[in-house]
Amino acid sequence: MSENKVILSVRNLKTYFDVTKGIFSPRQIVKAVDDVSFDIMENETFGLVGESGCGKTTLGRTIVKLYEPESGSIIFEGKDIAKMKGKELTAFRKDMQMIFQDPYASLNPRMTVGEIIKEPMIIHNIYDNDKDREDRVVELLKIVGLKPDHIRRYPAEFSGGQRQRVGIARALAVNPKFIVCDEPISALDVSIQAQVVNLLKDIQKEMGLSYLFVAHDLSMVKHISDRIGVMYLGQMVELGPANDVYHRPLHPYTTALLSAIPIPDPDVAKKKQRIVLEGEVPSPINPPKGCPFCTRCPKATERCHKERPVPIEVGTRKVACHLYEK
Ligand code: SF4
Repeated sequence: MSENKVILSVRNLKTYFDVTKGIFSPRQIVKAVDDVSFDIMENETFGLVGESGCGKTTLGRTIVKLYEPESGSIIFEGKDIAKMKGKELTAFRKDMQMIFQDPYASLNPRMTVGEIIKEPMIIHNIYDNDKDREDRVVELLKIVGLKPDHIRRYPAEFSGGQRQRVGIARALAVNPKFIVCDEPISALDVSIQAQVVNLLKDIQKEMGLSYLFVAHDLSMVKHISDRIGVMYLGQMVELGPANDVYHRPLHPYTTALLSAIPIPDPDVAKKKQRIVLEGEVPSPINPPKGCPFCTRCPKATERCHKERPVPIEVGTRKVACHLYEK
């Protein structure tokens, strides 16, 4: 990543869901994303990790406006996505696309691959004739490592990895500037995961794209990301350069997440100390008053149960933990 401009600036973003059952029941609000702020630069890959239910997918979907934020701003190239509606929102969707987790569910089984990739070009009026659209589909199929004659085939005729390549071609069809990759490899075989990640990296270099890469596998996120954000219970607890976060974690939660990554070398694995987190992740309906991690943190003090830590700068990192406050 070179010295680039900010392309996306998220500030104090909250996404809440009302899950109250029945009109006489007490109000229950799930705080899926709770006051999150960060920037993504042009040509950067920002990896977002955390256990399932930490809010990372909701955050990605709020950024592309699939979910309505409760409050906060999402500034993309100077405009607030959070406030966009109607035509302005449709126009913005051309610049920001999404690659979905499940390549089986995200492609319409009744449409050919050609129709699937052409559809966003038609919605956004990219070409005025079908011949140009078809030529572009063939070009995109080659870019993602598929063959031109795949254009007439249906999704069911492809493997999971090939379907995800179709999903990538569809996202690229409108020449976006930014792609939210929502766990794009977690439904794929391990042998295929690296191929898809390398394809995404090559495309980024070629087209100058920025990515928000959502995943629960920290080692894969480290491989693709320039910077990593770690989420826990709707909050960003650590954020910094991928190498620093991966090799020298600061937040106790990041340390625990990293200690759980399997190491292929049995000698190295024997020496590694695994931190087993006790207890369940608290419910986002009723999160702890203080630090979100206080119910499972091996270093928690009395203060941690009362006061929520705010993210502070620690060297190259931003960390939300009382241990680092001076
Ligand atoms: Fe642990 Fe306290 Fe830091 Fe939270 S603030 S991570 S509970 S030490």
